Amino acid sequence: MSDVISNSPTKKSSGGHVQIVIGLVVGIVAGLIANAMQGKDSQFIPLAVSIAEPIGKLFLRLMQMMVLPLVFSALYLAVVDVGDLRKLGKIGIVTLFYTAILSISAVLIGITLVNVVQPGRAISDDVRTTLTEKYSAKAEEGVKKADSAKPLGTTLVDLLPENPLQEMVGAVDGSSKGNGMLAVMFFALLCGIAATTKLDETAVLTSTLRGMYEISMTVIGWALKLAPLGAGCLVFVVTSQMGADILKALAAFVAVVLGGLALHMIVVYSVVLKAFGKRSPLQFFRSISDAMFVAFSTSSSSATLSTSLKVAKEQLKLRSETANFVLTVGATGNQNGTALFEGVVVLFLAQVFGVHLEIGQQFTVVLMSVLAGVGTAGVPGGSIPLIIVVLKSVGVPADGIAIILGVDRLLDMSRTLVNVVGDLVVAACVDSSVGQIHSLPADATGN
Ligand code: ASP
Repeated sequence: MSDVISNSPTKKSSGGHVQIVIGLVVGIVAGLIANAMQGKDSQFIPLAVSIAEPIGKLFLRLMQMMVLPLVFSALYLAVVDVGDLRKLGKIGIVTLFYTAILSISAVLIGITLVNVVQPGRAISDDVRTTLTEKYSAKAEEGVKKADSAKPLGTTLVDLLPENPLQEMVGAVDGSSKGNGMLAVMFFALLCGIAATTKLDETAVLTSTLRGMYEISMTVIGWALKLAPLGAGCLVFVVTSQMGADILKALAAFVAVVLGGLALHMIVVYSVVLKAFGKRSPLQFFRSISDAMFVAFSTSSSSATLSTSLKVAKEQLKLRSETANFVLTVGATGNQNGTALFEGVVVLFLAQVFGVHLEIGQQFTVVLMSVLAGVGTAGVPGGSIPLIIVVLKSVGVPADGIAIILGVDRLLDMSRTLVNVVGDLVVAACVDSSVGQIHSLPADATGN
């Protein structure tokens, strides 16, 4: 799977991040000044907003436009590149098991924290009303979706689309009556699974989808180049309406994400390492510190892959076959930190926009975040287009993503760290489980 993302254009130098931060700081400061000037009968603010808004929207559109081809091709290729799970045998199955368990627990931690702390409620009701009025059509859509929330059984049946094309259209324009993007994701996964049983016959389709994936990533890469200006404009529009309230909410949001990531890394990984990997967590973290440092500083699981492989073989003394397979697949397929982040972002923005999500919808968010974690490229900001997907599917205005872009650099570094540590945890556990499985028949024969 690593070759899927190897030449991804979204790899950016840290210089790009500095520009984004500058763009956002300018946007926030200008927005706060505009907010303070409101009511002073100035013609300037509406004019500035009317210029900034379309620029910000163009930036978002470039990403939104590519979301559908990206999601379909990324998930299809994720499965096909792993190959025939049966051929991979135990390593494949055991990897899948740990990946699923760790991703689900990460999202659950994030979602629980965001529900308890409610960072999005830090904004006043007045501001929320203004905001909801501004995005009324989209927010109403979300409220309507919440009102018509389906029972869990129907949500499960709707995971499989009756009409995939209709779900694709519905996922993008919000008109889906089924599960929208979630159903598209399952459709892609199933097509991928089917293709692994007919690899020769589907080779042309696979290479076509690889081309589609590359095109999507290239256009998204262009969009990200516009991020300093685009995100600056979007954040200006939001802060000019919300004022300093949004900064308070944002601080609480950052605390929830960092707290959730820390909890997952320190508690869940340690327990799993001890119980399944048969290792001392402290020693484990010490041995992989090189990979942790590279992950944190590059914000890219893919860029960290070579260091992770080295650490896995030299420090953790894992078998080559397990390390090679689990870490290569994990660099894009196992992103616990990203999954946690995606869940928290969606619920936080739902709180900001006053969109109440029922349990069934939160379940959709959990599933989508886990799958979005699988589909996210291991590059800086790789999760942003997929967050737009999840936001749309539950009716939260996608423009709201501007609110979190300002703090994304720090969070990207932190979630990438958790992603990479997660890959190494899975590799250690798989190595230990596979070792046990291998030793069983030998013991039996020996006796
Ligand atoms: N930067 C992350 C990674 O490479 C992906 C993301 O969450 O944006 O693991």
